[in-house]
Amino acid sequence: MDSINRLQLLSEQMELEPAEERRENAARPVCFTPKQRDAVFVHPAQLPNGQSIKLLKTLLTSACERDCFYCPFRAGRDFRRATFKPEEFANVFIELNRKGIAEGTFLSSGIAGGGIRTQDQLLDTADILRNKLGFRGYIHLKIMPGAEKAQVERSMQLADRVSVNLEAPNTNRLAKLAPHKRFLDELLQPLRWVEEIRRSQPAYKGWNGRWPSTTTQFVVGGADESDLELLTTTAWLNKNVRLKRAYFSAFNPIADTPFENKTATDPLREHRLYQASFLLRDYGFDLEDMPFTDNGFLPLHSDPKLAWAQFNLKDQPIEINRAERQDLIRIPGIGPKGVEAILRARRINELNDLSALRKLGIAVERSLPFILLNGKRAANQLSLF
Ligand code: SF4
Repeated sequence: MDSINRLQLLSEQMELEPAEERRENAARPVCFTPKQRDAVFVHPAQLPNGQSIKLLKTLLTSACERDCFYCPFRAGRDFRRATFKPEEFANVFIELNRKGIAEGTFLSSGIAGGGIRTQDQLLDTADILRNKLGFRGYIHLKIMPGAEKAQVERSMQLADRVSVNLEAPNTNRLAKLAPHKRFLDELLQPLRWVEEIRRSQPAYKGWNGRWPSTTTQFVVGGADESDLELLTTTAWLNKNVRLKRAYFSAFNPIADTPFENKTATDPLREHRLYQASFLLRDYGFDLEDMPFTDNGFLPLHSDPKLAWAQFNLKDQPIEINRAERQDLIRIPGIGPKGVEAILRARRINELNDLSALRKLGIAVERSLPFILLNGKRAANQLSLF
């Protein structure tokens, strides 16, 4: 198999692995080289700094000695596998980069020969790209279960982002998904190390002037876990290891795995978890603010911020002209940018009508039931529109 064929095999199954923000309105994640037979999967991605790039998401090898119940790459599953040596992958990637086909890479791997050896292969690849081939673009490196602290630190020195997939929110749930992964020492510990290293070396600036950001991923619904469990762990990670982002992947059964007959998770559940996780991370909400049902799930039919406002703000609307930042941001239809715009605008003039809010980019239809403009229910002004 030539390099491009191997890359096709290794990258085509990475669609399900969230790594960076998907660029809005982006086309399907396929980008063709000038010759159709050279098609490789390149994902339109948005980096934390807002830059849009073509991201090659791939594995170094799809051989794996573990047997996670949900995973297409699990040991013993019958499908065509492929492997790159570090130098081979680095050369293929640089060629794609020079042709303008791929501008960055998210590099993961099946586990072959243990987590330490596999992490060494990932590190060698990133090292060749950075130090031999002079690649200055975006690299996201996966930290393998069982990697050592020194390897985590080296990954941080080479990458723009590092991630550890927790897969499940706690030890008991992980045992239902991946019987040979250890939650605390194999998965959570590397995330703790990342934060420890960042804190112990504040002056060190990484390869591009700052330490990499950290993300994780959960398989939603694979272990019958509740949203409360997932969000409890997410809130802990936000606070204790400064997680940049938790990714939630709705479980989908894969043929010829132990979970092939398990019901797929409703994608709307994934969406509600993202909404709730942003409220926890960026909006000052606590777990207690989330509208969990008695068994710990978010209602599918309602946006969690709207559900909170309906319960808490309907009879106590917020005065737009005087509210503090932390209160404004709890109003549906007003996000962090909207709050800043309101604070700036009202330093100049009072905001007296809905058109003024619209001009600031506020989704007025969502905010209406929960706000006052100079003491008056803004809903009274609906007729103007
Ligand atoms: S270790 Fe990773 S690649 Fe291997 S079976 Fe588990 S999830 Fe799949």
